[in-house]
Amino acid sequence: MGRILGRLFVCGTLLLITFIGYSSQIFVIWPWYGHELSVELLTLLIPFNALLGMVLWNYYLVVTTDPGRVPREWQPNFQSEEGYEVKKLTRGPRYCRTCENYKPPRAHHCRQCKRCVLRMDHHCPWVNNCVGHFNYGYFIRFLFYVDMACTYHLIMVTRRVMSATSSKFWDEPSYTELIFIILNYTFCGPVLLAVGGFSIYHFNALLKNTTTIEGWEKDKVATLVRRGKIQDIKFPYHIGTRKNIEAVLGANAWLWCWPTKTSGSGLKYPVADPTDPRAESWPPKDPHAYPSADPNHVFTLPESPWTYENGSLNPNLQPSNLTRRASSSRRRRGHTKDGQVISSVPPYHPDYRPPGDDEDFSDSPPASETSTLAEESQPRRLVRRGSEGYEVHAIDREGMLQEYVTSQMREPGRYNVYMPDSPSASEDEEDEDVPLATRVESWRNEAA
Ligand SMILES: [Zn+2]
Ligand SMILES: [Zn+2]
Repeated sequence: MGRILGRLFVCGTLLLITFIGYSSQIFVIWPWYGHELSVELLTLLIPFNALLGMVLWNYYLVVTTDPGRVPREWQPNFQSEEGYEVKKLTRGPRYCRTCENYKPPRAHHCRQCKRCVLRMDHHCPWVNNCVGHFNYGYFIRFLFYVDMACTYHLIMVTRRVMSATSSKFWDEPSYTELIFIILNYTFCGPVLLAVGGFSIYHFNALLKNTTTIEGWEKDKVATLVRRGKIQDIKFPYHIGTRKNIEAVLGANAWLWCWPTKTSGSGLKYPVADPTDPRAESWPPKDPHAYPSADPNHVFTLPESPWTYENGSLNPNLQPSNLTRRASSSRRRRGHTKDGQVISSVPPYHPDYRPPGDDEDFSDSPPASETSTLAEESQPRRLVRRGSEGYEVHAIDREGMLQEYVTSQMREPGRYNVYMPDSPSASEDEEDEDVPLATRVESWRNEAA
């Protein structure tokens, strides 16, 4: 059904092109020039037919050219540095599960074509084919010639209309001519508007060497960067405007408008910065999107039967999102709920997290199930609560300071500790504490 529908679309498109192209010449221009072949008529129609020919030729090429398929058993070069980087950064090279084959850079699987397509741009129902590496050039030329031919056509028909209204001679079109003028406007106007808008998008994409799919990927990456999930990354295939065009339309600028075969295998593309290992891993993935896909993630059973799944705390004892948000806003202001200023040097306040430390309570499993936890020198203390698991027990700043000092003192020889002498050992300084007036009084008594 899909194949028949696709062919119907192609027939419809061809019908539309030929109708606009030839009905205007046969039923509008030919009668206007008095059904006679003249030099003026030829100078008007030859350029138009040349444009029309290019539209049809490029259309034929887009429909019949294979956009490029991935060779069976193709795989990335794992030995090369790039291959290694691909694996390291994207957690495995790109792979198509449907085709059961690796995907070269910029290739995507097309559901309609039921296969992977090299440098896939989009699946176009109007050409019943995917637009990819080998026919993207024809597609761009087709759009260009449709724009040119439609503009020429509209100018030509409009001139005919103008001649009828402003001519010195009465040059009223016949009934048939009038119908075809109206029909040509009704078909050509919307086609130029639609294809024109589409062309602007694709010419812009050509200048940036971006496919339609990569345009969406760029938007997605921009969102991830904005949310702080990944580092900013430049689109790797933008290698300069001139080179971007050459990559699609060929190195010879005189032949850009002439249908030429696209060079390259479609399996590898030059990147702007070959030294950047991230270039080979486009598009960057959201690291938080598929945590289970992380091969380094190992599921471990909790040591204690009292803890909840994967060593986490009793969910009822964990702070709710509301409290977390409130505490984080307090943290931002640098104060705790008691009004204390959070210290960013040790000893740390229980609310203080060193930058980059995204660990949650649930990520720190309890050391053991016995009460030795209380002896831990960590500021956050876990206290057993029977069958309920563990709860976080807050300790005050004073206790924390005590604990910190003790932990620092445990290391012998690290600090020279000042130990004050006992009062009895320093007899000479004994009267230091006695007020001067009292001492003078005693001297007077001695003298007397
Ligand atoms: Zn595939
Ligand atoms: Zn397709």
